[in-house]
Amino acid sequence: MKGTKYIDTLKRPLKDLRISVTDRCNFRCSYCMPAEVFGPDFAFLPRSEMLNFDEIKRLATIFVHLGVEKVRLTGGEPLMRKDLPLLVSMLTSIEGLRDIALTTNGIFLPKHAKALKDAGLKRVNVSLDALDSDLFQQINGRGVQVKPVLKGIDAARRAGLGVKINMVVKKGLNDSQILPMASHFKNEGITLRFIEFMDVGSTNGWNYEQVISKKEIHNLIHNEYPLEVVEGQVYGDVAKRYRYVGTNTEVGFISSVTETFCSSCTRARISTEGKLYTCLFAETGFDIRKLLRDDAMTDEDISDAIVKVWERRADRYSDERTEESARKRKIEMSYIGG
Ligand code: SAM
Ligand code: SF4
Ligand code: SF4
Repeated sequence: MKGTKYIDTLKRPLKDLRISVTDRCNFRCSYCMPAEVFGPDFAFLPRSEMLNFDEIKRLATIFVHLGVEKVRLTGGEPLMRKDLPLLVSMLTSIEGLRDIALTTNGIFLPKHAKALKDAGLKRVNVSLDALDSDLFQQINGRGVQVKPVLKGIDAARRAGLGVKINMVVKKGLNDSQILPMASHFKNEGITLRFIEFMDVGSTNGWNYEQVISKKEIHNLIHNEYPLEVVEGQVYGDVAKRYRYVGTNTEVGFISSVTETFCSSCTRARISTEGKLYTCLFAETGFDIRKLLRDDAMTDEDISDAIVKVWERRADRYSDERTEESARKRKIEMSYIGG
């Protein structure tokens, strides 16, 4: 089993695993978990339905044997999952796993950054969509100011974690923040990655008019701060990389709508309750928790089941996106993990 590369119907190997460790979040970003939908009565998963740490480790180990080299922990807000550093240390002990990373809104980093680093975490991606505090408060739906996020970024750097910033750009919402964000993180020497607003889930009211393309964002920045391409794009990388001329500081673009990258998508996703999804835009997942909780199932059986799912995989949603497909019912980002 080890060393074998499993490919899907489009010849894409299985290399990355994203694990959503909670469907809960302390934010209500309008493009992800709008407060009108995820209100006080929203039924989040009870603990018994979430994969526990032993189950996550067992599953991740199986995935590593199948070729996965990188694991990213996400959510919801992954730092709302109790004892996350413990999970990181459990995953670090998996032989053959090259990299463990985390995507977070940053609020809890001052509390946990050092423990995460000590547990073996290498990198964090911190999401921040504006530097204007009033606007940011409005976007995150919980009135949280920018300062706590900047403190989180600082804490992560001081702990020795690699840090990148993710900014989702939605037309009419935060396009005014593209240049201020570029300028700030250029000065800080931190990579900023712009993410095109996507039609994930079915609650964020997406349409094409709200997308600002990679090209538009690139040109806006390039006019102010000249950019050059970073050569040596790695297969499976989601971001197109540029650098500010005369510096080592990079800017990335995740152009999931206007320059799609399904042909090199090597990512599998595990939802908080243990369903396997082979695409961010999937409508259904494969129930692995059922197998994990069946005493008769060996690691080999679970591994075979995963291989079957991967070998059947034909997903290329973004390549084929239409206004109609965008309106279809899909799994929510906060549940499957970004
Ligand atoms: N709560 C964590 C955070 O915000 O970083 C991790 C989970 S969040 C779902 C992961 C990433 O997905 C974030 O960078 C977020 O900005 C991005 N995201 C959420 N909804 C999106 C959408 N509709 N389009 C593009 N990116 C989105
Ligand atoms: Fe929470 Fe992240 Fe979604 Fe914002 S993007 S609501 S922080 S899960
Ligand atoms: Fe991968 Fe699906 Fe995104 Fe295409 S749309 S890049 S297959 S997750």
